[in-house]
Amino acid sequence: MPIRLHDSMTRSVRELKPAHDDGVFRFYNCGPTVYAPAHIGNFRTFVVNDVIRRLLELEFGPGKVKHVRNLTDVDDKTIKRARDAGRPLADVTRQWTAKFHADCLALNCLRPHVEPTATDHIREQVDMIDVLLCKRHAYRTPDGSVYFRVSSFQEYGELSHLQERELRLGSALAGKPQPADADEKEDGSDFALWKAWKPEDGDVKWPGPDSAAAGRPGWHIECSAMSKKHLGDNIDLHTGGEDLLFPHHENEIAQSECCNGVTFANHWYHSKHLLVDGKKMSKSLGNLYTLDDLTAKGFSPMAVRYALLAGHPSKQLNFTLDSLHAAESALETLRKYKAELMFNLGKDAAGFAAVQQALHDDLNTPAALGALFSIVNRGAKNVDPNSFEAAMWALGFDLAKTNAPKSEAPAGVIALAAKRWAAKQAKDFTAADALRRELTAAGWSMLDRKDGYSLEPLKH
Ligand code: AMP
Ligand code: ZN
Repeated sequence: MPIRLHDSMTRSVRELKPAHDDGVFRFYNCGPTVYAPAHIGNFRTFVVNDVIRRLLELEFGPGKVKHVRNLTDVDDKTIKRARDAGRPLADVTRQWTAKFHADCLALNCLRPHVEPTATDHIREQVDMIDVLLCKRHAYRTPDGSVYFRVSSFQEYGELSHLQERELRLGSALAGKPQPADADEKEDGSDFALWKAWKPEDGDVKWPGPDSAAAGRPGWHIECSAMSKKHLGDNIDLHTGGEDLLFPHHENEIAQSECCNGVTFANHWYHSKHLLVDGKKMSKSLGNLYTLDDLTAKGFSPMAVRYALLAGHPSKQLNFTLDSLHAAESALETLRKYKAELMFNLGKDAAGFAAVQQALHDDLNTPAALGALFSIVNRGAKNVDPNSFEAAMWALGFDLAKTNAPKSEAPAGVIALAAKRWAAKQAKDFTAADALRRELTAAGWSMLDRKDGYSLEPLKH
């Protein structure tokens, strides 16, 4: 059954197909910026992408999908967070990467095959910038930064339909203050490929491209470079949340296509954002939720996953706590149904095909859930349990994880703490200190008492 998915470039629903002779489907999903815990809006995007990954594996086979999702571990936000905390950048990003992984695991997201970090790919980014400089798609400014020359790429704006956008934005932007780097650039729409070091960057700097200053890469070039390294010059699908379409993805296309000379991505998919109680999430409105905020209220991560998939990914999703109550009870129904299926062991596998069909039809998750419950509500008689399990796998519902909502430390952290306690009892303080550092990096602090210890998440 072909997978059909909306393509932001052509603004139409198109079939997903691997373009390369090896039959491997090349899938790049822009990953998180690791400077704080990801919020449930971020997780809407990652859970939706997890369902895409699952569908691709069902369609092309597990060995025929290569899924890459990067970690943005150097940018303004990560640097500021490290500076404010007086901690090394790598320490801060390691901590939030560990938390991101723990949350992804709790939400039952499959791990990408490659999870490259920006700081591990400085060489690759510098190499691309050198090519762009050589081809005159980029230029150096007096301070030693490098900018992409937007006017050198005719197709700039194709993804975001820039001309329409400019008409809409033009008047809105008139008279607004210009960005700090405005007078360095040849043109206002040019964007940074390489940022020369500034005192507020502290010790964060690397040798730059040819005759540029030491500094750090711009955000957009990291995805171009990591995608090129791990998936090649032409990829089958590139995804992210709707806010990434412009300028991030538009800039990625410009950099990659000018450097490599071929089409960057054959298909673009942008899922829409999550709102809370009808509003954009923000700390100041007090409506920003992390996964821990919700588990602390007694909800299970699987219910969060369910609620995140309850709306169509091509529409904004209004998240409410009521939707989590509904999700918990839906999961409870599924668990009871599963138990009944095991008791019946029927043979009819046809019903659940409708679930997959809905997912293959532009990722229609609400229709898939509708199809699921219309079968479940008919009862478990004669139904093949394997077909039910296949539907659960496609949606990523691990029913064993439904129970016992907890805001406890993840298993890996509990194991580290036990090891450290044993080391301390054995008076091996070097090992105990090393294990404490590992716990800190994972975002947990261990409070020792005479008779035992407790674990607490580090405050952010
Ligand atoms: P960031 O860590 O800010 O780079 O974001 C990681 C991913 O989350 C990106 O794909 C964003 O588009 C996505 N994202 C950010 N805010 C939201 C939101 N409110 N709802 C859904 N996705 C979001
Ligand atoms: Zn990206």
